[in-house]
Amino acid sequence: MSELLYLDHNATTPIDPEVRAAMLPWLENEFGNPSSVYALGRRAAAALSKAREQVASLVGAQPSEIIFNSCGTEATNTAILSALAIDPDKRHIITSAVEHSATIKLCEYLATRGYEITWLPVDKDGILDPEKLESAITADTAVVSLLWANNETGVLFPIEEIVSITTRRKVPLHLDAVQAAGKVPINLEELGVQYASLSAHKLYAPKGVGALYVNRRARYTPLFRGSQEESKRGGTQNVASIVAFGKAAELAQAHLLVVAERIGKLRDHFEQTLLSTVEGVRRNGTDEPRLPNTSNLTFAGIEAETALLLFDKEGLCCSAGSACSSGSINPSHVLTAMGVSRDEARASLRFSFGRTTSDADIDRALEIIPRIIAKLRAAQPAGGSPVHVSA
Ligand code: PLP
Repeated sequence: MSELLYLDHNATTPIDPEVRAAMLPWLENEFGNPSSVYALGRRAAAALSKAREQVASLVGAQPSEIIFNSCGTEATNTAILSALAIDPDKRHIITSAVEHSATIKLCEYLATRGYEITWLPVDKDGILDPEKLESAITADTAVVSLLWANNETGVLFPIEEIVSITTRRKVPLHLDAVQAAGKVPINLEELGVQYASLSAHKLYAPKGVGALYVNRRARYTPLFRGSQEESKRGGTQNVASIVAFGKAAELAQAHLLVVAERIGKLRDHFEQTLLSTVEGVRRNGTDEPRLPNTSNLTFAGIEAETALLLFDKEGLCCSAGSACSSGSINPSHVLTAMGVSRDEARASLRFSFGRTTSDADIDRALEIIPRIIAKLRAAQPAGGSPVHVSA
């Protein structure tokens, strides 16, 4: 087995050793239910309070505005459904064509229940025009739900302009901040959004824990009813994972700027080298504003799914700009919304770097990738379309 070369941090991140150490006692002796009145339970409740402060601090919120839950997907579903439940007469939702499936699948479902969905377009660089948002808002609009940072391209939406429009038009705004948190500075209080989704496993903490930010002045109704989280999200809290989330948020905040700068330099070196030394490579998404850790590239003439298999043999993990469903490879909806052809989208790969990515990792990736791309292209008939290469 080749040594692991993990370049897929937008998919998930390894658990930071300090995060693991922080959570372990809560998987061992400290097993109390945070709702119990005796000391064992009170210690668990205190651990939740500390984690709430740590997460709030990372995103510029008050601790009381953080509701812990099971994941970013739950947070997004809760925010949108809450806004709809509060204003049941309003039947219009605005989102974009390049959202994460957490938003897309919910909105597609809501469309079957009679809601009108506006899917805002993006341009060829993945950029959203705020004027299109402004003109889409009607008296019937219940909620606007938009990504902060795109998980496939890293492109950042113009959040300040978006917030100023939704504030002026008095429409609640939900931000999917899952990829942005820990990678760019965030101050939700200053921004003035109503709801924001967060997920721990993008921040070097475990999967299956997230949070919904609900501004204290925003109206809110829970999705899961129960007494926990001040009746805002029922269900006994996952104490160990929430403690981990808190520690991860503290570390992300402490290292944010230094890490972003270092990773940004590595990413730029990686991207520039491939763009200048391998023929037929193109970046998807604007250079700026973009997450410092993400590079989405099209390698003309290859089939990304096959590249992934060959990379895997070398230990290199990254993502294809496509998802395999029912045996067929669907090109990425993000790339096709940017006007990338279906064939080019199928030839696209996402590399996402993280805190543990080293200079040596980039050197190794820059040796593997051109070699595999050349192999894939050599297996392609002249002038023909990409073919499967035995992995
Ligand atoms: N939103 C974005 C932008 C994401 O990248 C993800 C995860 O990939 C999610 C939401 C969903 O988060 P979770 O995996 O915690 O449900």
